[in-house]
Amino acid sequence: MRLMKLFALCMLVPLIGSYTPLPKKEKIIIVIDPGHGGSDPGHTSEIKNIQPEKTLNLLIAKKFGAYIEQNLKNVTLIYTRTDDSFPSLDDRVAKANSVGADYFISVHCNANDRKTVHGTETHVHTMSSKKSVGLAQEFENEFSQKAGRHSRGVKDTEDREHSLQVLKYTHMTGVLVECGFLTNDTEAQYLNSAAGQDVLASAMYRALKNFVVKEHPSISFIKTTPTNNTTVANNGASGNETGAYVIRIMSSKGEIDTGHESFKKLGMPVTRRKVEGDTQYKFQYTVGAYASKDAANKDLEKVKNSGFKDAYVIRL
Ligand SMILES: [Zn+2]
Repeated sequence: MRLMKLFALCMLVPLIGSYTPLPKKEKIIIVIDPGHGGSDPGHTSEIKNIQPEKTLNLLIAKKFGAYIEQNLKNVTLIYTRTDDSFPSLDDRVAKANSVGADYFISVHCNANDRKTVHGTETHVHTMSSKKSVGLAQEFENEFSQKAGRHSRGVKDTEDREHSLQVLKYTHMTGVLVECGFLTNDTEAQYLNSAAGQDVLASAMYRALKNFVVKEHPSISFIKTTPTNNTTVANNGASGNETGAYVIRIMSSKGEIDTGHESFKKLGMPVTRRKVEGDTQYKFQYTVGAYASKDAANKDLEKVKNSGFKDAYVIRL
């Protein structure tokens, strides 16, 4: 009897499976929204030469997007703006909803009446939106644990005492990242530096990757075909600025694709950098971008265990 039941069940399962096919998702759509723009500068710093929020948002958002484009496949990336224009909040919401985006990530910089207030915040519409809160938590974890920022945590409409239009009316998992306070002079300098922007963008990339890999186990995100990327560090407004700590994994005489088979075990985006001066080894390869040596050392062991035993931390 028991055997018969088992047999019947075995016959049924494949039948049920074939009659109710689940639509299999093959790609995800991410909308990146650099806040403000055009006639709306957003927050500003009292310090001369520090760019307004709208410009910093765009720089960080583009670096974040470049990490995604260079290192993840099966992701369609859409920006609400790529220049100094000002799409209305309605336009931004409509764009994300109309393309059926899976994720909406708005990038901003913060301000406060008290100049001592500093740190990162990631906003969600409501704490009952589990996925948005999960993604927000990944951002704050990376900011505090790897990027050396002070995390002020995940906040929702109740914490803020007002709702954010772009989070309230978009239908998908959505967060609004506040990268730091322009009213805090030290943080303003950091936000304005290419190194600071690199560290923040790289933390945002890792946070997003961690989340989507767990959330969509049936989609393969890691690139398997070699790509010949330009270095992410050179995509910024002033890519020659230094300061960030990176993990140097190797050097080479000729150019090697950063998507090369041998780098795959790392599971981290590889950046190729040209070495200046009199050396046969014209290129070096690095991973990560960190605010401190300690933060870089946290990932060093993992890198060594991926086959790059001689890796070490350098400062750019
Ligand atoms: Zn803003």
